[in-house]
Amino acid sequence: MPRVTVYYTQNCPYCRMVKAYLDRRGVDYRAIDVGTDHEQARKMVELSGQYGVPVITVDDEVIVGFDAAKLDELFGGGAGEGPYDVLIVGAGPAGLTAAVYCSRKMLQTAIVSENIGGQALESWAIENYMGYRVVSGTDLMQKFEEQARSMQNIHLDLDRVQSLGREGEVFIAQTASGRTYLARSVILAQGKRRRKLGVEGEERYLGRGLSVCATCDGPLFRGKVVAVIGGGNSALQTAIEMSGIAREVHLVVRSAIKADPVYVERYEERKNIATYLDHTVTALHGNGVLTGVTIRENKSGEEKTIAVDGVFAEIGWIPNTDLLEGLVPLNDQKEVIIDINCTTGTPGIFAAGDVTNIRTKQVITAAGEGAKAALAAYTYLTR
Ligand SMILES: Cc1cc2nc3c(=O)[nH]c(=O)nc-3n(C[C@H](O)[C@H](O)[C@H](O)COP(=O)(O)OP(=O)(O)OC[C@H]3O[C@@H](n4cnc5c(N)ncnc54)[C@H](O)[C@@H]3O)c2cc1C
Repeated sequence: MPRVTVYYTQNCPYCRMVKAYLDRRGVDYRAIDVGTDHEQARKMVELSGQYGVPVITVDDEVIVGFDAAKLDELFGGGAGEGPYDVLIVGAGPAGLTAAVYCSRKMLQTAIVSENIGGQALESWAIENYMGYRVVSGTDLMQKFEEQARSMQNIHLDLDRVQSLGREGEVFIAQTASGRTYLARSVILAQGKRRRKLGVEGEERYLGRGLSVCATCDGPLFRGKVVAVIGGGNSALQTAIEMSGIAREVHLVVRSAIKADPVYVERYEERKNIATYLDHTVTALHGNGVLTGVTIRENKSGEEKTIAVDGVFAEIGWIPNTDLLEGLVPLNDQKEVIIDINCTTGTPGIFAAGDVTNIRTKQVITAAGEGAKAALAAYTYLTR
């Protein structure tokens, strides 16, 4: 058996998925919490060149992030699948709820998702999901996952759907790891992803100081100086969270803060957050790892560089609909257009949650829409 080590942090959902993946395949591994073991954190950065978790070593091979295709290659992946009654793309709140409803209707269901839990995993305190006064996104999604796994007829795979098409009455999905899924109907629940900064240095420093998951990588910046880019709910949540971990937080906002009062109030209480309103990020700098960010004052055009160890970009979202062009009607924001029953413009394809044009994008609405999409798929299949 190969020697496998997983470098992780406590709240990192991707780390949890790596461990679940290895557990499922009966692979023995050593798990090292680099959020608390600083010497091992230094070693991980030295090995991988990354300030981000998870990092996995398999003998002398270093794997950065939860790379399902690479792990499948090393530990053996699954075969092609189907035909299923329903294929659900995405296992966030919408997809997991849809799966439970499909299972209760005795539909043979496959969920293919890059991770389990979706964006909710990144929320450290959800205070508006009924039944919980306050719950972390990780804990809530673990409950969703447990419920889905406890049901019959649900086949859950960690993978990325890369293409989706139709041949006659059957939908065909191809995944990143080379699997093919056949299904009689599809529920799109693939949510949305972060918008990129689009500045010099972005690709170079991703994982080398630039992070897109504060919940995962935040502990690696304990006592350091970080910048958070953005002025919405996600940016403020991250700034508040990082102000309790980092020594100093620089919040760079392109125009004005546009967040819910509950976050604004908490942000205003923090003493170690310096705010730059009406500023745009123009470049990231460093030498191998990130050391600074340049920002420009929008009116005067004046630039300044702030020395930072990390940058968390929280500047908005785009729906994960690239693979749907030509398959279902999208609106001008590239969201899937649905009616009140979660039906899309293409018979046999349903959609739920943040990938759609519903205005409210929350865990509770995504879960509700997931239930509706499943029931609509059931009606379609039994028509
Ligand atoms: C930092 C943060 C804090 C938040 N706080 C709250 C809060 O306090 N309360 C609240 O109600 N909501 C909150 N939200 C919003 C909430 O998390 C989302 O509205 C909800 O998760 C949407 O669920 P979803 O299932 O539609 O999509 P997502 O959660 O985006 O899940 C989509 C899933 O699809 C997968 N996927 C994407 N593309 C593919 C593909 N091609 N192939 C396979 N899988 C794919 C993704 O990996 C993911 O697992 C927060 C969001 C963030 C980011």
